[in-house]
This record gives sequence, structure tokens and C-alpha cells, in this order.
Amino acid sequence: MNQLLITDARLFAAVDDTVLDDAGVLLEGDRIVWSGPMSDAPPVDRDHTEQLSVGGRFVMPGMTESHVHLSYSNAHPSQLDRQPVPIAMLDAVDNARTLLRYGFTSAISFGSAQGIDIPLRDAINSGRVPGPRLLASERDIGSTGSNADSKAPGSEGHKRIADGPWAVRAAVREVAKAGADVVKIFLDGEELSAHAAPGVLSYTDEEVAAACDEAHVRNMRVACHARSAGAVKQAVRHGVDFVGHANFLDDEAVEMLADARERLFVGPGIAWEIQLLERGHEIGLSRTMMEARGYQRELDETIGAVKRLREVGVRLLIGGDYGLSITPHGTNAKDLEYFVDLFAMSPEEALLCATRDGGLAVDPTGMLGTLEAGTLADLVIVDGDPSRDVKVLQDAERIVGVMKAGRFFTDLLR
Ligand SMILES: [Zn+2]
Repeated sequence: MNQLLITDARLFAAVDDTVLDDAGVLLEGDRIVWSGPMSDAPPVDRDHTEQLSVGGRFVMPGMTESHVHLSYSNAHPSQLDRQPVPIAMLDAVDNARTLLRYGFTSAISFGSAQGIDIPLRDAINSGRVPGPRLLASERDIGSTGSNADSKAPGSEGHKRIADGPWAVRAAVREVAKAGADVVKIFLDGEELSAHAAPGVLSYTDEEVAAACDEAHVRNMRVACHARSAGAVKQAVRHGVDFVGHANFLDDEAVEMLADARERLFVGPGIAWEIQLLERGHEIGLSRTMMEARGYQRELDETIGAVKRLREVGVRLLIGGDYGLSITPHGTNAKDLEYFVDLFAMSPEEALLCATRDGGLAVDPTGMLGTLEAGTLADLVIVDGDPSRDVKVLQDAERIVGVMKAGRFFTDLLR
């Protein structure tokens, strides 16, 4: 089979935080065969190996957006569920293409209007539309009066409201029947919500246990919205796989997350708080109003929470709640900037969250997120150096190559 040898790379293989100059990557089909310093390159059969010099550019694994809403249409946060389904479907196709263009070769869905992500995933997998490898979710599951329980007319297709363990089990079975990979449940609320603030638990332990048990029996994973320590503890206790937000933590919550660090991932989804504070005025809520709602406090608490989670080795993922007017699709790499500037990570550590750890979240067998022999050839070529400044990943013109499974989606070098 023909091979491709990428040469003259500044390589971030994401096995650890090493960046190597004068490095290469050898690919065959959809797999990486070798990566490392060119001085260690294996002999290649010149007749069957194409060579691509990237001229010293940065080569890294494709990234994972860990909390995606591809069916959201860059709308006002209160209008997310108003789009007619055919339009939301077309938007989702565009949004998937945009995400891939920015170097995100994998994504975990945290809820989709009308379950749009499921046919979208199938269309991506069959090669019909471009997009990241998608762990698809269906509609969110929440209790009556929870943050998922929108009273907006016409929004019924957005969520599944279920109360009581048996109703929750039935909702999870419906989600499974629709073909989802992920079950998204709401464990607590939101500062913006009139009736369900963070800390008000949406579900009893019995209901969360039912959701997780029913999902795991069907080989689905569970993603949750959990802002408060109480909700996070509930998530850990019952085996949630992807904990979204985790803004307010106490000692016990940190300890429980630390004990479970081999089996779960936490995604702070911090763009939400930052952009509500910075751009809330665009949706009719000034910074003063956002602060009064508690978003500055939530942001400060999250910075403290992330610091503690890093200290105990909990894996943190980038992404979350892009796809609103204040967080448009395609700006997802801002999360790396937040991880560096707010959470005081090195650029390499933020890159590891985006690549190695995100890849493991999507595929626990280790086929994604690193560039080493045997992994799938998902890689990004950057005209710039994200190990010095992660902000270059926000500029599509600097992302000159995006490859998924050995095939270039973007190839501006040849
Ligand atoms: Zn979300």
C-alpha cells in the first residue's frame, strides 16, 4: 500500500509535552506507521512513498471538541431550540464542516435538537458530508422544572422531560433506539434559569442511577450538566462518563473526582461564562446584570476548581457550548487560550487536553489523539507554533492541513 512521509515537521505527537524539530510522520492508509526525529526515520520504499515537506511547520494530532452542539445555529441562548428541523439539519452540516476545518477531527455531542446529530454522524461516517468523528447524542433528558424544561413554545423537540426512575429508563431506551452514543442528562441548573439554579438537583439518586445503568447496559456513555458540588458528586457516584462544567467544588467532590479519574473526564466549558460576561450586552444582558446573576463568581470558582482538579490528576477536556451567537461555531479553539490564560496551563498542557485526553475520551482504546505507530492518522498542520501561542489555532488561514483517517480535508501546502 502507498505511504506518505511528512518531513521537516516541528512535531507535537502528544504522547507527552515534547516538541521535536526536524521530525517526520509516516502514514499508510488511515494509520500512523511511525513518528519521530528524521534521524530515526525507517527506510521507505521510494517508489511507493510520497514525500511531503511541511517546511518546519507544526504538526499535531487532530483535536477533540468535548462538548459540542452542532445543531445550534449561532442563535441567542434563549432561541436555540426554535429553528425548524430542516434548517437546523442544514446548519448542523455546515457546523460539522466548520469544526473539521479548524482541526477538530473528533467531537462529543452534549445534546442535539431533535436528535439531529445521529443522522449527521452517519452521514459523516459514510463520507457523505465532511465533519469530525462524532459521538452523537439525542435530545437532552431532564426532570420537570429542571433547566432542561423549557417553557418556550415550539421547543418540545429539544428535550425529553422524564420524572421517576422508570420514566428515566424509558427515555434512555428511546435515546438508544434512536441510535445515540451518548445520553445527556441535566443534574442541576443554571444562573440564567428562572426556576433552576446551580445547586438545585434536578434528579434524585435513584433517577441518576437509573439513567447511568440503562445507558451503560446499552453501551452508551453518559454526559451531564453538573455545576454544583452536589450535582458533581451525584455524577461520580452513579458513573457519569463526561462531567460538564463542575464549577463549584468542595473537598469531597474533588476527592471523589480524583478517585474516579481513570474512568471519567471533566470539561469546564468555560466559554459560556466568559462570553456571557463579555458579550452579554449583545443579547440584552449587561455585564452588571450578568455579575448580579452570579456569572463572575461562577467564573472565579471554576478557576479554583480547575486548579484543584489539575493537582489531583483529573483529565480536563476543551470545548463546550460553542454554537451560540456569543460563542459562534469555529471559535472553539478559544478554549485553549482560556486554558492557558485563565487556568495557567503551559501551551503544551492545553494541547494535551485538546489532543491526547480528548482522543481517549472519544476512543478509550487509544486510537485517537496521539501521533504514534498504530493510531489513526488524524492530524493538523499549522503555519505557526501553538506550543508558543495557542491563539494561532483560532485562525483558519494558519491551519494549512487537516487530515482525518489518512485523508486530507484541508491541504493548502501542495
Ligand atoms: Zn452544553
